[in-house]
Amino acid sequence: AVRVRFAPSPTGALHIGGVRTALYNFLLARQQGGTMILRIEDTDQTRYVPGAEEYIVKALAWVGIKIDEGVGVGGPHAPYRQSERKDIYAKYTQQLIDSGHAYYAFDTEEELEQMRERLKAAGVDQQQYNSITRMQMRNSLTLSEEETKALIDKGTPYVIRLKVPRKEEVRLNDLIRGWVMVHSSQIDDKVLMKSDGMPTYHLANVVDDYLMEISHVIRGEEWLPSAPLHVLLYKFLGWEEAMPKFAHLPLLLKPSGDGKLSKRDADQMGFPIFPLDWVDPNTNERAPGYKESGYLSDALVNFLAFLGWNPGTTQEIFSMEELIKAFSIERIGKAGARFDIQKAQWFNQQYLKARSNETLAEYLLTILKNEGVNCSSETAIKICSIMKERITFPKDIWEQGKFLFFTPTQFDNAVADKKWNNEAVTVLTAYRESISALTAFDATIAKTTLESVTAALGIGTGKILQALRLSITGAGAGPDLMMVMEIVGKEEVVKRLDFALQ
Ligand code: GLU
Repeated sequence: AVRVRFAPSPTGALHIGGVRTALYNFLLARQQGGTMILRIEDTDQTRYVPGAEEYIVKALAWVGIKIDEGVGVGGPHAPYRQSERKDIYAKYTQQLIDSGHAYYAFDTEEELEQMRERLKAAGVDQQQYNSITRMQMRNSLTLSEEETKALIDKGTPYVIRLKVPRKEEVRLNDLIRGWVMVHSSQIDDKVLMKSDGMPTYHLANVVDDYLMEISHVIRGEEWLPSAPLHVLLYKFLGWEEAMPKFAHLPLLLKPSGDGKLSKRDADQMGFPIFPLDWVDPNTNERAPGYKESGYLSDALVNFLAFLGWNPGTTQEIFSMEELIKAFSIERIGKAGARFDIQKAQWFNQQYLKARSNETLAEYLLTILKNEGVNCSSETAIKICSIMKERITFPKDIWEQGKFLFFTPTQFDNAVADKKWNNEAVTVLTAYRESISALTAFDATIAKTTLESVTAALGIGTGKILQALRLSITGAGAGPDLMMVMEIVGKEEVVKRLDFALQ
């Protein structure tokens, strides 16, 4: 059975790249009738940020990623918060020590620093604690059993390190990258258990993936360098047979394509990096979210799905259901995915356009309420019908449609210079008269009235249409003018023509 997990660390708001990782896991789980698990990897107490876990849960719910098992839901492998699983990690660390694959290390910070300096002086800047250097350090491999025991009994702080073999080829077959091979001499004797008794990411991650029967580890490429170490851990714990398949997702790149996308880039270019608004509890700074910026969750999902994956066809619009059907790990690329915010906006436009006028009217009425503008829902629906093709965000209906609520007091001069002439004045004067005499008024009547006025005067409608638009909206371009007139109503049309003609 397919069992996948999203395993964020609650060190702050969930980055948009994390949402993509969660999404790919979810798509595979749903497609294969599998299980989507949420595990909170909170073993690094120093980086814990209050509120982050709640934020992650809320953000996943907003984008429509449903968790089957895990934090907030429960399940057969509870608890799903790593800080609540300390005993489990202690047990497996002991197993590694007993089997000779891990050891106690008593080195102080100063001793470690001295070692780093020695290495640096010798021109080695990468390796720190490995099969060579560990022989010069204070650990249970260099101390006698009695000495080790005495130090532990005395309460000397220690960490537990993995004993990485000196000469071994470590290989894994990544579903996206293919074979990855690393020589064990390139791998550090990573700390598995810290002096506070908390496991490190590596140990907790592997132990939990095994115990939670994870079938596929789908995660960001930044974890690829850790994967060989994880393979060693599976082997030393005797779990090789049950090792999950790995799929490391391509990086999200800056819009320019050079380098990894960061919050700084997003801030500078003025787009959100987080799914929801986030107030940093330390600085009280508010960072904008996709939701609050007006992105629709299905548009965002569609955009994120394409950051690294493609269906192999020209179809671009995919609902979550369609993504679930079409998704495959084989179609995830190796190359980094450029984060093109314009593309996200394009998706938003497509999804807004596809929403019913009634749904859009609800967004609009909420905005209008906040702005203290009265509007019937019937009118709001009409407004949305003419504005929906022209907007990127729901708020644009209001911001670009102010002329629907207020009489324009300013006119686009460039248009006026070209289009405001005697013919226009003649037609608009006659049009004003005809309209004010009408008893019924709507877009069709506005149009037929205009046509009969221009026909009677022998002036082409096309020649004065922009002047009419200028009078009604203040601008030279915009949505369907006859509908605009219907929406603002007969009295207002007459009033606006009077104002323009005075
Ligand atoms: N806790 C890690 C993170 O924050 C999880 C990485 C993994 O999926 O193994 O990204």
